[in-house]
Amino acid sequence: MLKDTPLGKHTQIDAGPESSSRRVFIKSYGCQMNVYDAQRMADTLAAEGFTETPTPEDADLIILNTCHIREKAAEKVYSELGRIRQIKARAKRDGRHVTVGVAGCVAQAEGAEIIRRAPLVDLVVGPQSYHRLPDLIARAEKHGAVVDTEFPVEDKFDFLPAPAPERTRARGVTAFVTVQEGCDKFCTFCVVPYTRGAEVSRPAARIVAEVERLAAASVREVTLIGQNVNAYHGVGPDGASWSLARLLYRLADVPGIARLRYTTSHPRDMADDLIAAHGELPTLMPFLHLPVQSGSDRVLAAMNRRHTRDDYLRLVERLKRAQPALALSSDFIVGFPAETEEDFRGTVSLVEQVGYAGAFSFKYSPRPGTPAAAIDQVPENVKVERLAALQSVIDKHQAAFNRSCLGRTLDVLLEKPGRHPGQLTGRSPYLQPVNVTAPSERIGEVLSVQIADLGANSLFGVALGTKDRHFSAEDCSLREHLDIAAAGA
Ligand code: SAM
Ligand code: SF4
Repeated sequence: MLKDTPLGKHTQIDAGPESSSRRVFIKSYGCQMNVYDAQRMADTLAAEGFTETPTPEDADLIILNTCHIREKAAEKVYSELGRIRQIKARAKRDGRHVTVGVAGCVAQAEGAEIIRRAPLVDLVVGPQSYHRLPDLIARAEKHGAVVDTEFPVEDKFDFLPAPAPERTRARGVTAFVTVQEGCDKFCTFCVVPYTRGAEVSRPAARIVAEVERLAAASVREVTLIGQNVNAYHGVGPDGASWSLARLLYRLADVPGIARLRYTTSHPRDMADDLIAAHGELPTLMPFLHLPVQSGSDRVLAAMNRRHTRDDYLRLVERLKRAQPALALSSDFIVGFPAETEEDFRGTVSLVEQVGYAGAFSFKYSPRPGTPAAAIDQVPENVKVERLAALQSVIDKHQAAFNRSCLGRTLDVLLEKPGRHPGQLTGRSPYLQPVNVTAPSERIGEVLSVQIADLGANSLFGVALGTKDRHFSAEDCSLREHLDIAAAGA
């Protein structure tokens, strides 16, 4: 479960007796890959007797799980380490030793430099070495600072322990599963191929086993994740190379799994069988994050995206033909080196043409060591203006998409209690948060919900029933829904 604390996002599972155990605080930055990695680190440390704490002040081990994708990531880590230095000093005055680790992509990129600049750090560990954490911690505590940023020959997934079912249950009814790591695409703006290394796919049988374990612990929705997830080509149990589509068909057969998603995809890797799966697999949600980055062919070429605006539009057309209910989201970069006003207008017009249900947009951020960092940069004020202009167009389309859901009946997977008594919050197929009046025993069920109202960041709906039966009047009513909505939910 992710919670916000003064120090940001961290994983926290309430598990196990705390008597003799040591406490770990993990703060994660960045994408879903890091959320998943933080959970795997917590599972590895749980096997060594660590329990998680929501506050760094009472931790014996503090890990910053860092992201290097955009600007000043390293600087943010150093300023966070400044705060942790005080925590460590206070603990020392109380006779307690606190071990401090930096993990993730900043650790991979900066390596020993982190310990040189911040000597309070005991441990620097790259994303491929998390299975070695217990050993690295023991070495750091015995012999002083250690750095492990190798790309080891062994596969970390073979060594990372599976969480106990109660830990999985505490994390909720949705889960991420990494199926692929690294990237061979080398977009000229992106640091991922350098920090996460070459593309590697996990064997299909291991992924199936992990999803079966999750389903047995009440998980209903699984999102397959990878830096370039649709390039997945893991070895199947039959010895053949399995595509992402083949893996999805297999996972759709796992009892208990009601929904599948995958992210993040590259347009070049949208294979025919994956497009067809969107039409054929009801378990595969009709919502696809398909980053395009720019609507200008000149910029796309300079980014080394290896597709044109037209290729992308044709792909969107094919996807919508396969699955008419499909909605899309995307990523955009504005102010890529030498981007002209005309290039930027091309991006805006692409957003208008596709009509995304949502999108992320970023100012280009030069990443040291990547080719684009050496090209002429667009002035900061221009980037700021373009970002604001693009975001308002994206917001307009997102609002229109949400409005188009009013009156529709959507399947909603109920995930957790809502903000008001008697209310539950779940997600539509399009990942919109939906609030509905329903008893808490319904968490984990997929309900048919009629969308009755729109809030600032969520939808409000009336539960009509599950697939096999309908709700009774006591379970939910339109009156209750309207009362809660009126109370300002
Ligand atoms: N693999 C995905 C793809 O092909 O689009 C993207 C993964 S990347 C972790 C997530 C997003 O961060 C990218 O889609 C891009 O929009 C953004 N991004 C990556 N490098 C960036 C940079 N140097 N400056 C600004 N945004 C960046
Ligand atoms: Fe980065 Fe995605 Fe390009 Fe790979 S495909 S280099 S992860 S933006």
